[in-house]
Amino acid sequence: MAMCPLCNSLKSLEMYCPKCHSHLDDSGKVSDFLDPYGHYNDEETVKMGDGYPNTAKDHICPHLMVCNECGYDVVKFIQET
Ligand SMILES: [Zn+2]
Ligand SMILES: [Zn+2]
Repeated sequence: MAMCPLCNSLKSLEMYCPKCHSHLDDSGKVSDFLDPYGHYNDEETVKMGDGYPNTAKDHICPHLMVCNECGYDVVKFIQET
């Protein structure tokens, strides 16, 4: 079964803010934020509801990277392996 290396702490993403060059924090899967009810326990259901229609099919895990200094954020699509 495919899994995201970032969610499973196998890897961390080293990224720096293009505005202030601070280290960006991985805030986790975007779907954790977009689930308005917080009661979806089924992984595939969460993916289908995260607003990125290809993530379930293509095994992509969208992560929100945020800068704590200036508030910059960017979504990175992580290939599950
Ligand atoms: Zn992930
Ligand atoms: Zn910044």
